[in-house]
Formats: sequence, structure tokens, C-alpha cells
Amino acid sequence: MPPHGYAVVAPEGTCLWNQRLGIQTPTVHENESKRHHSLLEHGTGTVMKIILAAPRGFCAGVNMAIESLELTLKKFGAPVYVYHEIVHNQYVVDQFREKGAVFVDSIEEVPSDSVVLFSAHGVSPEIRSAARDRNLHALDATCPLVTKVHLEAIKYAKLNYTILLIGHEGHDEVIGTMGEAPQAIILVEDEQDIQSLVIEDETKLAYLTQTTLSVDDANRIIKKIKERFPEIESPPKQDICYATQNRQEAVRLLADRADVVIVLGSQNSSNSQRLKQLASDRGITAFLIDGPQDLELSQLNADQTVLMTAGASAPESVVQQTLDCLVNEFNATVELETIREESVHFPLPKPLRSFAAELKAE
Ligand code: SF4
Repeated sequence: MPPHGYAVVAPEGTCLWNQRLGIQTPTVHENESKRHHSLLEHGTGTVMKIILAAPRGFCAGVNMAIESLELTLKKFGAPVYVYHEIVHNQYVVDQFREKGAVFVDSIEEVPSDSVVLFSAHGVSPEIRSAARDRNLHALDATCPLVTKVHLEAIKYAKLNYTILLIGHEGHDEVIGTMGEAPQAIILVEDEQDIQSLVIEDETKLAYLTQTTLSVDDANRIIKKIKERFPEIESPPKQDICYATQNRQEAVRLLADRADVVIVLGSQNSSNSQRLKQLASDRGITAFLIDGPQDLELSQLNADQTVLMTAGASAPESVVQQTLDCLVNEFNATVELETIREESVHFPLPKPLRSFAAELKAE
């Protein structure tokens, strides 16, 4: 099943009354738009205007990770253990739970000889080694753009560099990256951390970043780091991934036209949080919600313009459900604004490729 086809289990709530009445969700066909301006009119009188941002929602890494878990479940049957949430989204995780995925935060929770899948956020070598020790059949759905950061950390550590990793403490990706060279990496969370840094050899210093940071925050921190360590090295291509950058760019370009910004995504999704933060920093009221059941309808008005977007791990179905709710509550019109096309695709993990091909051929 293509990831965009993710079914949302309809929660009980005011917003979905229309669904129970069989009113159809207004689907916006992005592929058909050229300067990407499609207008769906609903109702008359005072109507809310919704600007639907694109790109939004699933990125190539999330698509690959979700397809990997679907295939792993098909190939090996339930239970399939997943180290950490496959992606940081409540709907996706809940639906996989129903299909037999068991999410664990410790490899010791996985019974010996079981199948385990590493999530899109990547794991440290310690976890890979623990999986081998338990004789687990491990498959790896780490996003290649996270792997890129791991390889950069390994490269710099081998050259005896100290690495400043700009990121959020405790995030799965940061834990995995730091695990590649714990003795060489110092975590920098904000500008305040920079003054107190003690670096033994400033000629051997590099910085890396988490893939899902705020571009603006990261640039501010990098500027400060460069003021203190002008010779610091960095990888040729920036680590904040294309999907994070594009979704932030869309909010940056469109938010000033809106009274309210609604971001679909889970609270533990770093890139979704950054989209909300981007709008809040511009003084615009912003909500980060998992789906229509979380909408605070009393805080919205029919005369408002709403910018809607979704983090890289949020399914399109929750966007459509939320649109559906606003269309019915406020007679909203929906205007699609695509600021950039995306065509990135990542291959499946090697051990799943032939199985995927077999299924396709059936
Ligand atoms: S947000 Fe970026 S780094 Fe994370 S899975 Fe998606 S493409 Fe990969």
C-alpha cells in the first residue's frame, strides 16, 4: 500500500461528524497543478481561506522506512520488533502496532532470534552489536541522509577531530550519531553552549548537524561557532536534509499571508516542531496537531486565513481529514501553493529489494 494511502482511524470528535454523514474529503491533486494554484470553493458567505503548503508531509526517508516495515511484516510475519518508533508519528506507529509491529526502546526487549528493524533515525554501532549478540535478524531502515551524517562523524573521528554536533539532546538521531564516536563528539544545543567549549586542538575541529533542525537556528549557531573557531571545518553539503529545508521554506514564504498556521505532526517530531516554531517566531498563532481531533475549533474563525502544512512523518490522510473538518465547520476554501517540487526517492534496504520485486511481479 503506498504510504499516502494511510487510513486514519476516525477518532470520535466534533470534526469528523461530516465523515459519519458520508461527506467526501476535498482531495487536492497536486500533480495536476502547474503554477500550483488550485482553488476549491465550498459554500458561500464568510469563508475561511486555507493555504495548503507544498511540499509537506512524507519525505523520501519516511516513505522508505514505512515501506520497509510493511515488507518486513509481510515477509516474516508478526511480530516484527522495531527499535524506536519507525517514524515519529502517532498514527503511523498505532497502525503498525495493529499489524503486529512491536516498538521497543531497548534492544534487550527483543527476544533472541527475532526480526528487528532499525528506524529511520538510525542507530549507534553499540545497538548493532547488541543485536548481533542476541542473534537478531536485523534490517536497517535508516534514512540515507542520516547515514551520511554518521559517515561524516566516523571520517572526522578517524582523523582525530573534535566534532561539534548541533542538535537536540535525547533525539533518537542524535543518540545514534553520537554513538558513532562518543569520545570525539560534543553536543551543541544552542548558542549558550559555545562559550564554555574547551577544545584541545582547534586546528582539528569540525561541526555536523542533526538533519531536522530549524535552518535559521542552525545558521545562528553556526555563525557563533565560526566567530569563536574561524578555522572550523564542515562537510561540503549541509546536513539539514532537503525535506526539512523545503517544508520550512514553504512556511517561511507563505506564513505572512496567514492568521493561523496548522502543522500536522506529532509532538515528538523534530521537523514538525520546527515548522510550528517558524510560524510562532513570526508572531503567528501556530498549532501542532496529530489530526482533526486535536483542532481547537473555538480558537478559529471563519474570517481567518489558515496556512496548513505537515511534518515529514505526517501522513497525507490526516491533512485531508483536517481540511475536511475545516471545510465543513467554516465553509473553508482551499488554495494549494507549491513552492518547490520534490522527486527524491530512496531505495529499500538491500535484504528487502528482491522480496519487493517478487511482490510486484505477482
Ligand atoms: S526528514 Fe530528512 S533525514 Fe529525516 S527521514 Fe526524512 S529525508 Fe531523511
